[in-house]
Amino acid sequence: MRILVVEDEHRIANSINKGLEQETYAVDVAYDGESGYDLASTEDYDLIILDRMLPGMDGIKISQKLRKEKIHTPILILTAKDQTRDKVEGLDSGADDYLVKPFAFEELLARIRALKRRPVKTVEDTLEVGGLRVNTRTYEVRREGKTIKLSQKEFALLEYLARNANKILSKDKIISHVWNYDSDILPNTLEAFIKNLRKKIDQPFPKRQPLIHTVRGFGYKLSSDG
Ligand code: CA
Repeated sequence: MRILVVEDEHRIANSINKGLEQETYAVDVAYDGESGYDLASTEDYDLIILDRMLPGMDGIKISQKLRKEKIHTPILILTAKDQTRDKVEGLDSGADDYLVKPFAFEELLARIRALKRRPVKTVEDTLEVGGLRVNTRTYEVRREGKTIKLSQKEFALLEYLARNANKILSKDKIISHVWNYDSDILPNTLEAFIKNLRKKIDQPFPKRQPLIHTVRGFGYKLSSDG
């Protein structure tokens, strides 16, 4: 899950960034409207957290422009003023939700979970692929009733694959969604992570179809039917 945070108050932006990274999200931050809009319109995000009042281009304007360009990434607007007019304006601009500042970080996380639940079918925060169950709230992973222990990054990788089950994902795309835009992750590192995931979710279940599939020279796919 890759998130763009557009917020001009550095203290708030940095604390959101830090908190989200601890939750294993990959985060990019922009500190003004123009660069936020540039990133939002050229990079591929799963969610955009957008401050209402920004220098350059405000949050409402950015949201309107993105929707006009048929970019439908979920948008959460942060607003400093608890005014009905602001909320209505925010939602009218094409944003999906809003949050009034100051807010508790837990509340932000709950809103993010609600927004990311929308595009894929999930039951009680669980993604299910061929008997593998990935709980995106408790971070619990189970197959055949057995609990599988994963590191944070392994979990983030598996969650991204499960969220896009049955789709072939390129290595670049996986890296940009699971690690940060500016991190120096090489395809070799991803291959090592995939190898570890296979050891944990496929190899202990030899009687079952493997779920992780390599698409030679391109990337990977998580699927229960080959
Ligand atoms: Ca602001």
